Amino acid sequence: MISEIFQKKSELIFDYLERLSQIVVILIDREKIIHDCNQGFLDCLGIAEKPLNKNIRELLSSKSKDFPLPENESLLSCKLTFLAPDDAQINLAGYICPTENGYLILLEKHRLTYNELITTMSSLNNQLGNLVREIDKKNQELAKANETIKKIMNIDPLTQLLNRRAFREFLLKGMTLARRHKLPLSLVMTDIDYFKSVNDTYGHKAGDEVLKCFAKILKKSSRTEDTIARFGGEEFIILLPNTTIGSALLFAERLREKVENAPIPKISINITASFGITEFVISDTEESFLKRADDALYEAKRAGRNRCITDPKIFNT
Ligand code: GH3
Ligand code: MG
Ligand code: MG
Repeated sequence: MISEIFQKKSELIFDYLERLSQIVVILIDREKIIHDCNQGFLDCLGIAEKPLNKNIRELLSSKSKDFPLPENESLLSCKLTFLAPDDAQINLAGYICPTENGYLILLEKHRLTYNELITTMSSLNNQLGNLVREIDKKNQELAKANETIKKIMNIDPLTQLLNRRAFREFLLKGMTLARRHKLPLSLVMTDIDYFKSVNDTYGHKAGDEVLKCFAKILKKSSRTEDTIARFGGEEFIILLPNTTIGSALLFAERLREKVENAPIPKISINITASFGITEFVISDTEESFLKRADDALYEAKRAGRNRCITDPKIFNT
């Protein structure tokens, strides 16, 4: 019955296989060169043009490339894995039928067996695991790179203290908190005395050693909540939250004494520094707050150096 219909309606069956069906039909010669294929094959691979005169091996995954051809006139079953242009693997199964000059290959989407499914899933799972590990590694590298960038942007390489740029952020935050909670906030600006003559007498390297040593004293003598920064060449600044100008003066005086009495290792010289101290007032801008500390420091220099001077507008010593 069916064979009768096939013979009578051969054109319709041909049209179905050539144009409409999902079944893949490929005609190859004995060297596996493609001579024709149907639309189903193009749809399956997601390609627009028939790959005529191409060796079918070029479209197959490595394990399918050497698929056997039938040696006699009988059909040979086969399972082939094609590689689509987007690298997707397409598993097809069907038969190879010998023709006069080559072979007709008829294939359908192959449903994986349970074992094949398990193997495929486990391989995909491994690939996913590798990708996740790779992403983790890249993320760690990125975090490290960000950390380095942050350090370069915020830390003075010689003294390892914050630089002026980073200090500004702490200053603005400190001012906001002091204003909001009506808490005292003090600023100590300090500058090494006659530092130029250290450079001139002992050399620039010795000068660098003095800067590092001075920074260490500042760091050792402050609380964790204080913010210390290298503000300029041999000028440093300390922000003291929750500290009145009176307490800041005591702190600065302790620092001054430590500096005066601590010989610089390696070059065994003593240095001194001058200190300007002020306290935040509600009406302060960043500039006005800094300027009062700077003015007090200038006054300490003018008055003979190696001393602490408080802002006279706020505190009279
Ligand atoms: P004063 O008591 O008035 O502050 O005098 P001073 O000599 O300390 O001040 P002055 O501004 O005349 O000189 C500062 C010197 O600091 C000049 C500059 O070459 C030096 N300096 C700035 N940055 C560095 C640095 O990173 N390393 C070294 N070794 N010297 C520096
Ligand atoms: Mg100086
Ligand atoms: Mg200076």
